[in-house]
Amino acid sequence: MIELVAVGEGVGSERLEALAADLARIFRSPCRVLDVVLDVKFAHNPARGQYHSTAILERLQAVGSNGKSRLLGVTAVDLFVPIFTFVFGEAQVGGNCALASLYRLSEEHYGLPSDEAKLRERLTKEAVHELGHTFGLRHCEDWQCVMASSHSVELVDVKSAEFCRECTRVVRGA
Ligand SMILES: [Zn+2]
Ligand SMILES: [Zn+2]
Repeated sequence: MIELVAVGEGVGSERLEALAADLARIFRSPCRVLDVVLDVKFAHNPARGQYHSTAILERLQAVGSNGKSRLLGVTAVDLFVPIFTFVFGEAQVGGNCALASLYRLSEEHYGLPSDEAKLRERLTKEAVHELGHTFGLRHCEDWQCVMASSHSVELVDVKSAEFCRECTRVVRGA
């Protein structure tokens, strides 16, 4: 079971439902949206004007306490970890919690007209990628594989939302 939870306001419940359908198909696993919105304010860093991703992941872990499901937090805020200027998301490798941000996936963020379809496609890729880490997967050399590392939205766009054969084997075997 994969459970989705909004972290902070502005995530959009329709968007989460669409994501849940994509994840159910790709992971061949039931996926549902939890009826709660987690607080995100505690993770705000005033000096950076961003939110500390690792702190949010720790909070998510407390929510996903039964240990049987994977929990993906989706947020509209800009995330960081201290060593990077930003992250699209973060996950516990081999753990059960992952986090993805919409903030830098929207066309508006780059001064372009809004494109909901593109935003949803990017969110699915980012969500699959971060959940992939919870299956113990690290970054993949296959540029089309969803586990390819992508530090820019252009690189998110060139890869697919699917796992390569090798990565699929790990996910299905887990
Ligand atoms: Zn990654
Ligand atoms: Zn791969």
